[in-house]
Amino acid sequence: MPWLAVLCLVILLIAPMQLKTALTETTVSKAERVAASSAETLTVPLYFQDTTALEEDLVRVWESGDIAYAIVQDLSGRIVAAQGRGTADFVRYDESGKNSFTPNRNVYRTVMDVRYRESHLGRLFMGFKTDFIAAEVNRVRKGIIFVSLAIFILGSAVILLTTGWVTRPLKSMTAAARLIAEGDLSRRVEVQSRDETGILAASFNKMVERLQELYQNLESKVEQRTGELRQEVEERRKAEDSALEKESLLRSMLEGLGDGVGIIDEQEIFTVSNPALDEIFGVPPGGLTGRNITDFLTRPGLELNASQTLQRKKGLKGVYDMEIITMSGTRKMLRVNAMPRFERGERYIGTLAVFSDITQRKLQENQVREANERLRRNIVEIEKRNTELGLLYEMGESLQACQTEAEIYAVGARYGEKIFPLQSGAFFLAESSHGHLNLKASWGTYPETSSDLDTNDCWGLRRGKPYIVENPEKDLVCRHILEAGLAGAPSLCVPMMSYGDLHGILTISYPPPEVKTRSGRKVSAFESPEAILQEELRPRLAANLTEYIGTAVVNLRLRESLREKSIRDPLSGLFNRRFMEETLEREIRRSVRLKTSVGIIMADIDNFKAFNDTYGHEAGDIMIREIARLLTNHVRQEDVVCRYGGEEFLLILPGAGPDLVRDRAERLRLDAHSLTIIYMGHPIGPVTLSFGCSSHPVDGENGAEAIKVADMRLLQAKREGRDRVVC
Ligand code: GH3
Ligand code: MG
Ligand code: MG
Repeated sequence: MPWLAVLCLVILLIAPMQLKTALTETTVSKAERVAASSAETLTVPLYFQDTTALEEDLVRVWESGDIAYAIVQDLSGRIVAAQGRGTADFVRYDESGKNSFTPNRNVYRTVMDVRYRESHLGRLFMGFKTDFIAAEVNRVRKGIIFVSLAIFILGSAVILLTTGWVTRPLKSMTAAARLIAEGDLSRRVEVQSRDETGILAASFNKMVERLQELYQNLESKVEQRTGELRQEVEERRKAEDSALEKESLLRSMLEGLGDGVGIIDEQEIFTVSNPALDEIFGVPPGGLTGRNITDFLTRPGLELNASQTLQRKKGLKGVYDMEIITMSGTRKMLRVNAMPRFERGERYIGTLAVFSDITQRKLQENQVREANERLRRNIVEIEKRNTELGLLYEMGESLQACQTEAEIYAVGARYGEKIFPLQSGAFFLAESSHGHLNLKASWGTYPETSSDLDTNDCWGLRRGKPYIVENPEKDLVCRHILEAGLAGAPSLCVPMMSYGDLHGILTISYPPPEVKTRSGRKVSAFESPEAILQEELRPRLAANLTEYIGTAVVNLRLRESLREKSIRDPLSGLFNRRFMEETLEREIRRSVRLKTSVGIIMADIDNFKAFNDTYGHEAGDIMIREIARLLTNHVRQEDVVCRYGGEEFLLILPGAGPDLVRDRAERLRLDAHSLTIIYMGHPIGPVTLSFGCSSHPVDGENGAEAIKVADMRLLQAKREGRDRVVC
């Protein structure tokens, strides 16, 4: 319908215009033809200036129809003839000089030159009526309007009629489609015909069935997918909740963490920091963000940080200790655990680091280290002392086994070297009371050929107490140290005293701070606590060593003295009977081994009781001593002389057989005759001795038997008259 209306409207608009244009063109063409033929008609009268003929011809022209006016001008412009109205138009026309419509398009004006052959005679102005064009156009328009209206009404009626019939099934389909679209897929279109509409309806129904089928499938799929989606959503929600919970947990952990956690970008600027980190760096909460870490570093810290950053750029983690200066200017030591961060695993974008304030821990560690060092030194000291005590104890045991003083000094020197391995030392012993001491033993670099030592050569000896030279350049150095070539070394001289008596001196010379030991090992005083201990002057230890040696010497001397006393008779100075018995047994064992003899002489002073009675006991004692000297002086070195009883003596002669024993006894008997004893200014005597001799193994299997035989023979000598030898 609208299209029909538009068509009518177009016809209504275009058709009159087309008609008007066609009529106008036809009119113009006709007017110009009429004007041309009229100009030709007027040529002759104008040429001959025949006004009348001109008028007549002009009237004919004008009367030929639809001409508003006709005017003829001569060459001067004078109107020579005119018919009709329209002067005004003419005048305007004259001004324009061209063919044209009047403004109201009622007249078409023409001008035509009137010529005769080549000569110009004048001009013919003609106005042709054109108002019939508008009338004609109006008439046609009315007709078109009428026809269009009729067509429109008729067309509309036809369309309405046909549309209602044609679109009924379509409407039915549309309604069904709307209901289907609303969700009622059970709806179907009724198929009434077998034409295209019926086919369309059947196809539509099939389509709906298929749609219903698809819809049902889709519904089940949607239901299934919805379930899955619901599950996914639930899982995602749980994951989000969990992530949120974790994030919140992480955040609270980060904020509550005692250690500082921060993120530093590639420009070394903090982008994230937790409250603990702000506190460590001494800035207000959040104040670390935007600050460069290098602002807080010391020079060594800067170098360390630069090298660690380089490592992190290579992807390496780092754990290191770094010193910082906080905002308040406090120095802190931090343990940094730094991990590099990379964008898409390629570009280094900074560091995630955990900072622990270990200032206190470091302080404590240092204190513990120092305490440990002290403890170690003490332990070393104690161990050293223990070793020294052990050595002293060991030395004491060795000293107890010493039989001679020479052995004591040798032991002293050996242990002196063990206790003072880096030092040199020497023992000097006082041999007499003349203030002279002899070198007995030495170790280290102390020269073994050192000369003997005078009391005046040693400040220790002079003062009677230990003398220490710590600084040889300032202190007085003993002369014996100088003579030993040890001038530059610190030294210590400890006198060996025992029961108030000076026995000798121990002198120790210390090496300079760095020395080579005898084994060639180079030792520095500062090398180790052990070395430092070795370098220390140890007067107490030296005094102990000296005391041990001194005591050992005194003990040895005492032991020897006691032994002497235990085996000797105090009156005569001869060996006593017990010693004699021991010696005899030993000598007999040896003689058996060597297959030799042991001779025994038993002597007894004759009538000694009478002597005592005559001169007194004191004189008797002198007599006993003199007889003892006589016997001692007249036997061999290896022979043993004993006081057997009151005024009885026994001589053991190792290796002597019966003959030798007899000879010796006889000699002694005779020697006694020449013995003169002066008592209180007067000679006393004479004295004689009786002898009984025996020998092993001839006179007995053992010592006791041999003595018994000798005793019997002595009794025999007494019985036979005394002053004789019985063998
Ligand atoms: P005989 O010729 O028979 O040996 O006669 P004797 O007098 O020497 O012998 P006897 O055994 O009768 O006397 C021994 C005397 O020696 C008795 C005692 O007074 C004396 N005597 C013993 N020991 C000592 C002593 O240590 N000093 C003194 N002065 N006399 C002593
Ligand atoms: Mg007697
Ligand atoms: Mg006698």
